[in-house]
Amino acid sequence: MTRVLYPGSFNPITKGHMNIIEQASKIFDEVIIAVLQNPAKKEGLFTIEERLKLVKKLYEEKNNIKVITGECAVDIALLNDCKAILRGIRNFNDFDYEASVREFNKDISNNQINTICLFADKEYAFISSTAVKEIFNLGKDISKYVDPLIEQKMLIKKRGI
Ligand code: ADP
Repeated sequence: MTRVLYPGSFNPITKGHMNIIEQASKIFDEVIIAVLQNPAKKEGLFTIEERLKLVKKLYEEKNNIKVITGECAVDIALLNDCKAILRGIRNFNDFDYEASVREFNKDISNNQINTICLFADKEYAFISSTAVKEIFNLGKDISKYVDPLIEQKMLIKKRGI
């Protein structure tokens, strides 16, 4: 059984993230999505509990996709017997960042955890959670970038319901 861990903030989860998850679910027996708090990023739109609930809902019918939370991606990967951490690459900035994080993760796991990167299909490659939030705050349509469930929850949150 080949299991991979896909950690991220997912604030909110976009069709770019979902494209990476779909690709990975065809390559690996099981994909574990870890919804984490990135200390370098402010909490922003959804709390960790809200994000966890939303991502769980999106994949509730997929047998080979599990959604969890935790603190440290390497610890979660080791605990869940994941062969590697999965990250998505959009551009050179992502590449540089992921290449350096990969070294740290390999190091702190005593060479046990490697990193695998997948590229988003080109129609999703430019999407970022940050841009989606900005566009949404300007009152523009974000339905091309996120699942309808996410858009609906963003609208509810905006209206303060
Ligand atoms: P983090 O705070 O860990 O970077 P993100 O939710 O921003 O969490 O991203 C999680 C992973 O998904 C990262 O590897 C990021 O590069 C990747 N990713 C985000 N958006 C896209 C996209 N549109 N296409 C491909 N990969 C993406």
